[in-house]
Amino acid sequence: MLDAFFTLTLTLFSMAVLEILKFPNPKLKKKSLPVEAIDGDLRRVIADMAETMYAAPGVGLAAPQVGHSLRLVVIDVTPANEPKNLFVLINPEIISVEGECTWDEGCLSVPDYNEDVKRKERVVVRYQDPEGKTCEMEAEGLLSIALQHELDHLDGILFIDRISSLKRALYRRKLQKEKKEKEKEGKKL
Ligand SMILES: [Zn+2]
Repeated sequence: MLDAFFTLTLTLFSMAVLEILKFPNPKLKKKSLPVEAIDGDLRRVIADMAETMYAAPGVGLAAPQVGHSLRLVVIDVTPANEPKNLFVLINPEIISVEGECTWDEGCLSVPDYNEDVKRKERVVVRYQDPEGKTCEMEAEGLLSIALQHELDHLDGILFIDRISSLKRALYRRKLQKEKKEKEKEGKKL
C-alpha cells in the first residue's frame, strides 16, 4: 500500500516542463530514431512531454522538440474546458491518406508565426501505445492536421518547410529584425 502510494506520488510530482527547442535549432532538422524499448525512461519522457505540451499550451508535441531523437509524439486536441484526451504515439507512421485541405498552422518551435499549409484531409496512422500494443487511428479535422504536423517533426520537417520560399524568407527576415531589436534593448541595460 505504502509502496503504491510512493510510486504514485513519484509519478505525479516528478513530471517536469521541458525546454522547447526553437527554430533554427539544428536538432529540429534531424530525422528521429525509432523507439526500441518502452521502459521507465521512456515513460518519464512521455509524462514530461505531456506536461510540457499542456503547459505551453499546445495540441501536440514531438520528442525532437524537447531534444530527444525518438519517434514519439503526444497529442491532445480537446478544447481546454473539456476533459483531457491524451494520445501517446510511439513509432507512428501514416499508412493511408485521403483528400486535400489547407490549414492555418502554428508550432511551439516556431513562435509567433502562423501560415496556411497544404495537408491531407484524412489520415490513418499506425503506432504503438505506451503498453506496446500496435494500434491504428483514423483521423480528420484538427486531429488529422496535428498528426501530420507532429509526424513531420520526426523527419526533421517544420511547417515552414511546407510553405512557399518567399513566405519562408519573410519569416526569416522577421526573426532577424526581432533579434536585432532584442540586441538593441540589451545594450540599453
Ligand atoms: Zn510543431
